[in-house]
Amino acid sequence: MAVENSTTNGTSHTNGEAANGTIRKPEIVIVGGSLGGLFAGVALKSHGYNTTLLERTPENLLHNQGAGIVAGGDTIEFFKRYDRTGKPVAVPSYKRLYLNQKGDVIHEEVNRQNMTSWDLCYYLLRANYDRIDSPYLEGGKLPEVRPTDGKVTYRSGCTVTDLEDQGSQVRVHFKRRQDDGTEIDDFIQTDHVVAADGPSSSIRAIFEPDIQRKYAGYCVIRGTVPELEVTEAAREVFAERFCFFHAPGIQNLTYTIAGEHGNTNPGHRLLNFVWYANFPEGEPELEKLMTDKDGRRRHITIPPGMISWDAWEMVKSMGHARLPPQMAEMADKTKAPFVQCITDVIAPKNLFMSDKVVLIGDALAGFRPHTVASTSQAAFNAMSLVEWFDGRIDRTQFVKQTMQFARELQDMGVKIGNRSQFETLPVEEYIKDRNFASIKREDREYPEWTMHGLDKA
Ligand SMILES: Cc1cc2nc3c(=O)[nH]c(=O)nc-3n(C[C@H](O)[C@H](O)[C@H](O)COP(=O)(O)OP(=O)(O)OC[C@H]3O[C@@H](n4cnc5c(N)ncnc54)[C@H](O)[C@@H]3O)c2cc1C
Repeated sequence: MAVENSTTNGTSHTNGEAANGTIRKPEIVIVGGSLGGLFAGVALKSHGYNTTLLERTPENLLHNQGAGIVAGGDTIEFFKRYDRTGKPVAVPSYKRLYLNQKGDVIHEEVNRQNMTSWDLCYYLLRANYDRIDSPYLEGGKLPEVRPTDGKVTYRSGCTVTDLEDQGSQVRVHFKRRQDDGTEIDDFIQTDHVVAADGPSSSIRAIFEPDIQRKYAGYCVIRGTVPELEVTEAAREVFAERFCFFHAPGIQNLTYTIAGEHGNTNPGHRLLNFVWYANFPEGEPELEKLMTDKDGRRRHITIPPGMISWDAWEMVKSMGHARLPPQMAEMADKTKAPFVQCITDVIAPKNLFMSDKVVLIGDALAGFRPHTVASTSQAAFNAMSLVEWFDGRIDRTQFVKQTMQFARELQDMGVKIGNRSQFETLPVEEYIKDRNFASIKREDREYPEWTMHGLDKA
């Protein structure tokens, strides 16, 4: 086994063998309680590791992000391996369609893909991690407790501020929110830290302060509409389809996802649109878009319900002028649109503090969404982590497989995103890009440069 661990009194040893001869697995603190942190928490729990998850959001449950997610191979594989609820996580899409601006289908190909939603994944993971019951489990069950499971502790309102190297252990400093809203300083001593604190990761910033998210020059406007609320013309191209439109400075894709409480039955599902549009830095349109209804200039995200009235009118009229009618209809009918600036960020390595700290998911590499691989990266990182901790792969293999994937996909996202938004190409080129992005992780060829410096990482 490759993992160094320690007893609570700080003596270092390997192979989980404590000084008194009993087997003790390392204690782990996970920073961030979104999908990445929960993938890690569920996998580690199933393999007998005790975890404490620290999430900065004060409420026990995160807000529904109202978003569809294309469930890549590793997301599906994760639920196959670790889900104990038995609830289906995905809605299938059977075809990819490409539209012209009039709304006619100009290309179609048979291609099975799985679509899920952020909230369904989240509630299934919370059920598997700390047995949170919810209507999302309908048709499934609350997972059984197994004697071999590790202990889990979920702590909300805890914002990690610093990590201190204590030799064989790490001291995790955090601000803990109390019931009266005030915060106090606290810390936990642990063997390992899994940083799943997202693309603006404060753990990454401790070790790599110069790595910043960079705006890519365009935004994504997102929203959902219940499938029964759209016209027949829209349902025809979006229901159980993965539907695309490309034009200069625009890409729109729309697909079916689970509806309320993860309902995957026809008639109860949602149509989810993802609309990329160019908003150059410094232009008044970007300022208007990113200034919320309370007049606050948001840096990266306008959450559901917070877009200003005039910004949304601007977006809808762009839709009428530039999008196929079925896609413009989606913007007209969505009730809680939200906006994200597309950014780029990747850490040069994923292990720090003599391997006691590991970055996973978006904290390691925030991909452009065109890759449809961010959730899968987080799932893959979590599965790889337990393989390494359990000694089924060694450190070198762990670093190689996670970093090569992160580097290749991050680079690919920049290339296909820039081609889509800043070049005017025949639709065949965009279809080629889409198909390239869909190659499975295990079938990808990783260029030589994705290995550079990993032996020293
Ligand atoms: C609207 C939307 C649509 C998406 N669509 C897709 C898609 O189609 N396909 C796909 O593959 N992926 C998609 N994703 C991305 C996917 O959800 C993420 O890649 C996935 O959740 C893994 O992210 P993460 O957990 O690493 O980071 P995040 O989801 O960013 O979570 C980070 C968590 O850490 C917490 N946190 C941050 N700092 C601290 C701190 N200092 N202390 C404690 N807690 C902290 C945050 O509150 C947050 O809960 C989408 C994401 C969103 C928001």
